[in-house]
Amino acid sequence: MKAVVSWADATHMRLGPKIYDTGAIADFYSLDQDHCFPVLLSHMKGSNTLALCPHWGEPGHTSLTSEKHVAPKNFDLAYVQRHLAKAAPKADGEEEGNRKKKKAKFAK
Ligand SMILES: [Zn+2]
Repeated sequence: MKAVVSWADATHMRLGPKIYDTGAIADFYSLDQDHCFPVLLSHMKGSNTLALCPHWGEPGHTSLTSEKHVAPKNFDLAYVQRHLAKAAPKADGEEEGNRKKKKAKFAK
């Protein structure tokens, strides 16, 4: 399950088709920068969500109600997806690479 989450850098987490700006999300909801974002942003409920936790069993990560797992009271996933996330680029950018190669040929 952990494979569905990947980090572009320290504050940009890819989950499914979205890249979440976790720095902006933490600022917006006054969360710690080390909040458990995979659990917070997952659509899944219950124990499946906890499978995304990268620090399972550590302090703050021992249950759905642990400090790093609770969602802020006003948390609105739809808002986050619209304003604090962006669509992930397709696969590995191969499409763009091909286009660039074609252009180079024409330039000659
Ligand atoms: Zn966690």
